[in-house]
Amino acid sequence: MAYQTVNPYTNEVVKTYPDASSDQIESALASGDKLYHEWRHTDIQSRAETLHRIAALMRKHEDSLAKTMVIDMGKLLREAKGEVELCAIIADYFADHGADMLKPTPIKSGAGDAWVEKHATGVVLMVEPWNFPYYQIMRVFAPNFIVGNPMILKHAANTPGSAVAFEQLVKEAGAPEGSLINLFLNYDQVGTVIADPRVQGVALTGSERGGRAVAAAAGENLKKSTMELGGMDSFIVLPDANMDEVMKVTRQVRLYNAGQVCTSSKRFIVAENLYDEFLKRLGQEFASVKPGDPLDDATTLAPMSSAKAKHKLQQQVDEAIENGANLYQGNQPIDLPGQFFEPTILTDIKPDNPAYSTEMFGPVAQVYKVATEQEAIDLANDSQFGLGGIVFAGSKEHGAKVASQVETGMEFVNTFMYTLPELPFGGVKKSGYGREMSTLGLEAFVNEELIVAKDHPELDNLAGALF
Ligand code: NAP
Repeated sequence: MAYQTVNPYTNEVVKTYPDASSDQIESALASGDKLYHEWRHTDIQSRAETLHRIAALMRKHEDSLAKTMVIDMGKLLREAKGEVELCAIIADYFADHGADMLKPTPIKSGAGDAWVEKHATGVVLMVEPWNFPYYQIMRVFAPNFIVGNPMILKHAANTPGSAVAFEQLVKEAGAPEGSLINLFLNYDQVGTVIADPRVQGVALTGSERGGRAVAAAAGENLKKSTMELGGMDSFIVLPDANMDEVMKVTRQVRLYNAGQVCTSSKRFIVAENLYDEFLKRLGQEFASVKPGDPLDDATTLAPMSSAKAKHKLQQQVDEAIENGANLYQGNQPIDLPGQFFEPTILTDIKPDNPAYSTEMFGPVAQVYKVATEQEAIDLANDSQFGLGGIVFAGSKEHGAKVASQVETGMEFVNTFMYTLPELPFGGVKKSGYGREMSTLGLEAFVNEELIVAKDHPELDNLAGALF
């Protein structure tokens, strides 16, 4: 059984689920396709009302929804509740603004009255990871629901409980059948769904490995795709940064969600005048966490999502040290049954160390010392990834000047990363392509249909005419 909830705090096998049957897949495709054609003739307003109901239900069921995530993948309960609220905010946003965002765009043209309409295209498959079990779904669901693209969800194998809970909530809100169907697809079945002519796009959030496989299947079938992949994001501390301000966010940017965040700061790049102080204070922050039951409010360090994830991180840290990295702090076993990993700080990582170029998806910080601003920018850019970064500087103007030179999809100055529905989310290089949320995300799977209209042809003006 591939789909299984194993509580990473207790190691208890909670529930297993069989893979989807061929009948379930066919039925999901058929009802999604039927709904797509119906939605082409229905007013967007009814979908906006449903999305508002989904937001309201998320808030109403916040407690149980949050607990389902905690049992699936171990995050802290208060972080899980924050995630549920964020999902509600995203749903409300697209309910409120979707109609405006989808208005036709007029074009000034010598060809006649011209405009671009934004139409739905058909069923979209979303392939999602376990680290934010609802938020990852909502980033694709809310905009595409408003657009009128029905969706099939393939969630991560270790978060089936969250997948079922999200699907049920959409049903409870009265969304028409086919709006979002969760299927426990194996990898071959993902390929089958992508190849089906009723499916017009695939959105994946996950690793480079998963991205390559799904993007290849999309390319093979000439389907649109968006890829939200991994990151090795930099946190640059410039020489004029205020260290008290910096330290307000450092723990959060690396240890939130037990460090299992695509955009968490995996590489701290620190000006030499602040390096020693930074290391000392980061060490104090990391040492102050309290591992324990993620359902307990007093706990500040959650277990990692699975034994597999912890094992992989341990291998990466061991390999980094074998290749010359200095273990500044951490990497000691935690005497609890769950999948805990002690927050760890590595320094002196050289370019030939595998750690220099491999994403560590857990509570491990790499810290680098740089002599100049240019060296900081060059080091930040010496990466195959480019998702979201942070710069701390003496002023937002100074920070923004450096931020523009970092090759990422998102860069934040003197603050931590925000994710809100109006802000486009996505990366460059091996962090993927396309954007989720904002107008850019809303348009990911629309048909931008050009209409040019005249009352009659003007045969004396044929410049640009195609025959
Ligand atoms: P993953 O292994 O790629 O899994 C993500 C999803 O892709 C899961 O549903 C997985 O299914 C599926 N998948 C993987 N290989 C597949 C294949 N060959 N064919 C079809 N489906 C496939 O990613 P992960 O390691 O669990 O997640 C962590 C990664 O996601 C990190 O690299 C992180 O940085 C990235 N991430 C990126 C963002 C972003 O917005 N850019 C956000 C969050 C996470 P199974 O679970 O069944 O294997």
